[in-house]
This record gives sequence, structure tokens and C-alpha cells, in this order.
Amino acid sequence: MTDTELRVSKIENGTVIDHVPGGEALTVLAILGIDGSGGEVVSIGMNVPSDRLGKKDIVKIEGRELSQAEVDVLSLIAPEATINIVRAFEVIEKHHVTRPETVRGVLSCPNANCITTENEPVESRFDVLDAGVRCVYCETIIDGSIASHIHST
Ligand SMILES: [Zn+2]
Repeated sequence: MTDTELRVSKIENGTVIDHVPGGEALTVLAILGIDGSGGEVVSIGMNVPSDRLGKKDIVKIEGRELSQAEVDVLSLIAPEATINIVRAFEVIEKHHVTRPETVRGVLSCPNANCITTENEPVESRFDVLDAGVRCVYCETIIDGSIASHIHST
């Protein structure tokens, strides 16, 4: 346990997302669909000094694990992130995110005429490019702020 880790309280069971770029913690919560209204217990450290990143954010969520779709989108905004699964205050699993080839769900296509944005039961799907992501259905590219295209659930 380092000084840096002590800045944010420990959790009993849940997920710790570490090495998020400084200032992106709220985007991480948006990806996970957490806005506080669901009663989740969340601790956030923002702009914590980091040897690796300069400044980093840490997000700790009680009683929640991440789906693969959430981890895939997370990797786009936090490619250096590590995901720690905590049980009884101990980290039992730790892994780095990897950049996926495609991301499903979570993001919404900005094209209002896209089949995924009409009232059709079609899950969004994007190919991951070097810069941004591209809708596999209508080829619209999201390049810039991926965060603003997260599904509001
Ligand atoms: Zn589309």
C-alpha cells in the first residue's frame, strides 16, 4: 500500500479502476452509467500524482463489476487503466485494459438515421480505429469526444 493508494479509502467488495488519465474519472462513471441516482457507493481520486502518468484519477466502486463492453469503451479513454477486483478488502484480480477491435453497446451512433438509433432492437457496434471509432452500420466516425456519445441509460 503506497501513499498514493491511501488517498482514496479502501473498499470491501467491488472494482477499483486505477491509472485513469487525470480529469477523466467522471467520464469513467458516465461509461458505467453511474450518476449517483442508483445509490452506488463510489470514491474518486482526481489528479493524484502518478509516476507513470504524471497525474491520474482513481475510481472505486462498491459492489460493482464491469462488463466486457464497459471495459472495452473504458480502454478508449483510459488505455493505461488497470482494473482491480476487490473481495473482502483484498485485490483478488488485477488486469490491464486492452484496446478492442470493436465495441458493442455503451456508445450511441451520432447519426440520427442509423439503424442503431431508431427504435430498433439493434445494439450499437463500432470498429476501433487508430483515431476514434466507426459505426459498422452507417460508417459514421466518432473522433474527438467519445465521452459525449455514451448511452444515457
Ligand atoms: Zn451508425
